[in-house]
Amino acid sequence: MKIAFYDPPVVDKKSVRSAIPFHILLKPVGSGCNLKCDYCYYPQNNEQKAAPMIKDMLEPFIKNYIASQPIYTKEINFVWQGGEPLLAGLDFYKRAMSLQQKYVPQGVRIINTLQTNATLLTPAWCRFFKQHDFIIGVSLDGPEHIHNRYRHDRRGNNGSYLAVLQGIKLLQQFAIEFNILTVVHDGVAHLGTEIYLHLVELGAHYIQFQPLMLEGDAINQGFTLSANNWGQFLSSVYRQWQASAHIGKVFVMNIEQVYSQYFTHVSTSCVHSERCGTNMMMETKGEIYACDHQANKSHYLGKFNGQQGFSEFVTSAISLPFGQNKSRRKECQQCAVKMVCQGGCPAHVNLLGRNQLCEGYFAFFSLVLEPIRQYQRNAQGVQRWRNAMLK
Ligand code: SF4
Ligand code: SF4
Repeated sequence: MKIAFYDPPVVDKKSVRSAIPFHILLKPVGSGCNLKCDYCYYPQNNEQKAAPMIKDMLEPFIKNYIASQPIYTKEINFVWQGGEPLLAGLDFYKRAMSLQQKYVPQGVRIINTLQTNATLLTPAWCRFFKQHDFIIGVSLDGPEHIHNRYRHDRRGNNGSYLAVLQGIKLLQQFAIEFNILTVVHDGVAHLGTEIYLHLVELGAHYIQFQPLMLEGDAINQGFTLSANNWGQFLSSVYRQWQASAHIGKVFVMNIEQVYSQYFTHVSTSCVHSERCGTNMMMETKGEIYACDHQANKSHYLGKFNGQQGFSEFVTSAISLPFGQNKSRRKECQQCAVKMVCQGGCPAHVNLLGRNQLCEGYFAFFSLVLEPIRQYQRNAQGVQRWRNAMLK
């Protein structure tokens, strides 16, 4: 089955609208953060409040971002990230909400997603998030003794676990939807079961395990993640999730995306899509990169000047080799799990041109696919699988 992305989109260069849906991840305070985690992928400097977003840019960004979405758009996603995006302050987001309302066309829904370390959450923030239906992602790496080893204050002294926990309690108190993002590296690869059970114990229903990105501080501090360890970690989570009968109760995105991609042929994650390149990132002064994990000279698309639409940035981003070729590598073509892996993230491709997590993906995907391979990859297949699960 083809997905829209496979046929080169017909782009009208004069149109401000993009032919295909896209996201631009925003960093309202750049790399500014109140913590200094050891493996932060985003290059840090010594300032807590690094380069806030230019004040006058918010309105033109929101206006043009909305206007540049494809004509058939029914949902527009705003993704706020850092650093620690709460450092931008509540007034910044209140203004953003009123600008979104000013420019959103009738019948289009706006969704706001924000990734935070949760240590700065207060009842005022939570009231605001609840009022505007934010989806909150919380970075938490497991139990206190694991999390605090890597995620601490800027002096490297106090671990942030208890402050994160406080933040999670507030989110729960205000009934705000949240998911947990946990970074996996060689140092915790054998702790998959312990970490997973801890997150469930805290009441997390949505969990995502993120392989360590070899960028920024992670490289400087000597962190690594081998393919075998990545596979071992995910496989132990999967086995525990099954043993606990958590299907339909706890959503581990790494597992869910396998089911969804197997049956629908479309990935919910850029990492396992056949192509990528529609998840751009804008820095605080308007510099646009093809992806948050490709923020370098070769993937720099230009600067937002407050006037132009984003369709030309989208066209440039999807023409770059990183996203075009991700699933076309030689070793992937005959691979038995290609239908749900698609080569992984280009940011994990090593100097030999291979995804350095390949064997780990292969082991994990083989395990998850094994019980569902007997079902056809269509609506009837998923129905039969569901019926069998409910027996
Ligand atoms: S480079 Fe990686 S993170 Fe970026 S869009 Fe592609 S798959 Fe996603
Ligand atoms: S498991 Fe390895 S060979 Fe198979 S699709 Fe993924 S990256 Fe390619």
